[in-house]
Amino acid sequence: MDKLPFPARHLVPLEKYGTHAFTVSTSRGCPFGCTFCQVSGKDGLKWRHRSAANIIEEIKELIKNHPNIKKVSGPEGKRPMVFFVDDNFMVSIERVEEICNKIMEEGIKIYWDANARVDTIANISEDILDLFKKSGCMHLFLGVESGSEKILKSYNKRIKKKDVLKSAERLKKKGIFFTGLFILGYIDETNSDLNATIQFAKKMDPTIVSFRILIPLPGTKIYEKYIKDDLITDFNYFNYTSGKQIIKHKENLERWVLKCYMMYYLRPRKEYLDLGMWKMLFQIYR
Ligand code: SF4
Repeated sequence: MDKLPFPARHLVPLEKYGTHAFTVSTSRGCPFGCTFCQVSGKDGLKWRHRSAANIIEEIKELIKNHPNIKKVSGPEGKRPMVFFVDDNFMVSIERVEEICNKIMEEGIKIYWDANARVDTIANISEDILDLFKKSGCMHLFLGVESGSEKILKSYNKRIKKKDVLKSAERLKKKGIFFTGLFILGYIDETNSDLNATIQFAKKMDPTIVSFRILIPLPGTKIYEKYIKDDLITDFNYFNYTSGKQIIKHKENLERWVLKCYMMYYLRPRKEYLDLGMWKMLFQIYR
């Protein structure tokens, strides 16, 4: 992948978009093969990646060429933010370690966030977690998907619920924010599975939570099943990012999404009083 040129960002007036983060893509594919994940249809199970040196070169170029990009306020003051947009940035932890070390060696002052698996975060060493923090890791997206073991198995997610809780605890201790990503509405997902997801999200207690209705995307394992059983009600892809329910299900999933958010956020949490946290999250999510 190092042979690919960097994106032609000079063609886009990034500053005018008020963007808060540079997106940097460092790898393609993911070997885990979760049945709902678009990676299998888009990039495949074979993981290909760029070298740490090549990634650092792109980050340096970004900072040099876009001095006026909006900066994000964080524990180390204002810095540009880099979002490593890979579906799974941490397939090789050695490579992430190399990237973090190079960020520090080269004196690059950024904050970064990325998508990661909970088992990775639960099992990496304390030193590597410290390295994340020191190199500017501010936030991670963690795919949890469900609080029901049955549904996790259907998704071939291959994570343990204890690892979800352990990863959350470790990130909290290091002061790294994280978003818990959940999916609602697999074929045989019952009322009690959905309730298990809400309860588990509360137990995990991410800084931000995302509840999305399942969308069987072409190329995924579950898509084949949904097509075979005629369970997709809408093939207009413009509706696939709208939060609309586009699958047949005995539950009203749009109502469940609302219920999940209300039950998650309308509970007392001392973190809600931390204005610094809201300020930082506003910058990441706006
Ligand atoms: S959901 Fe994450 S771990 Fe699973 S296949 Fe997709 S990128 Fe890989």
